[in-house]
Amino acid sequence: MVDERVNEAVRSIRQKALRRSKGSGRIVSWRERDFLDGETVDAGVVILPTKGCRWGRASGCTMCGYVYEAGSLDDGTLAARFREALASLDVPYLKVFTSGSFFDPQEVSEALLGSIIDAVNEAGVKRFQVESRPEFLTAEAIGDVQSRLEPALEVGIGLETSNDFIRESCINKGFSFDDYREAAELCKANDVLVKTYLLLKPPFILEREAIEDTVKSALDAAEAGSDRISINPMNIQRGTLVEMLWRRGEYRPPWLWSLVEVLKEITDADPGVPVLSHPTAAGKPRGAHNCGACDQTVAEAIKEFSITQDPGHLEGLDCRCKKHWKDYLLLE
Ligand code: SF4
Ligand SMILES: [Zn+2]
Repeated sequence: MVDERVNEAVRSIRQKALRRSKGSGRIVSWRERDFLDGETVDAGVVILPTKGCRWGRASGCTMCGYVYEAGSLDDGTLAARFREALASLDVPYLKVFTSGSFFDPQEVSEALLGSIIDAVNEAGVKRFQVESRPEFLTAEAIGDVQSRLEPALEVGIGLETSNDFIRESCINKGFSFDDYREAAELCKANDVLVKTYLLLKPPFILEREAIEDTVKSALDAAEAGSDRISINPMNIQRGTLVEMLWRRGEYRPPWLWSLVEVLKEITDADPGVPVLSHPTAAGKPRGAHNCGACDQTVAEAIKEFSITQDPGHLEGLDCRCKKHWKDYLLLE
């Protein structure tokens, strides 16, 4: 499941950038609005600076620079800071991101896992979301967490696309759609909700192909049992292969119009599960963007759609640049 040329290119960029990176080791948390059980709710996000993604440290995905934020804090310090972050949130929907895999014991040790579960149970949240690559989602690991955790557990899996060729050759993800499907089935069998992340516009494909790919992937993920779909339009992260292409003028992040189109097409196809997007760096050169004049309005409409699931927010959006976007899809 690896294209050796792409893997080697990513590995070489990664090793150089890792030598320069100092890591942050900071716990960051914030509140945001999200959609849960048919209504808009307050959600809390905690970024836990574990040692980072094992796949990302070795080589990793072409667009991912999270590994440079990894920390070297001991378990006791991480657990104490996690409790502090949690105390400031008070939300029904809690998301904890390690920028890697919560179920990887090299990232989240048995001791840290126990402390996090205790703190989450005490906080009385309704739903607890983490993220993991499929290979760490074993029956034993899921069963262990489920036996101790009180709120509903949701696991986010970065499938990115249901197309194995794109995932292998453009993203260097290192796992297959079948790996994802098996992990999703295991989650479902253990009453774990599955959230699937899709990447809009990986490198080396055209914008119009990217739109088609993300729409198809969302429907494939829903069919595989995903309980919600989250679309991440590309944002250019430092120390990545995608950043190198972008600096050379060989890559443009997707238009926000493309994201609107994707959300509309998926909604029209009625996948039966919530579909959302919280684009990072929307309207900025490194994020999904339009012409500059309409970015804020369009990004706001996407956000409102995501937290309400009301497709009306995506209707009636217009700007002079919409024609440029349509030309771009035809002529790129
Ligand atoms: S995108 Fe996910 S799997 Fe890929 S390197 Fe980053 S954290 Fe690891
Ligand atoms: Zn515009």
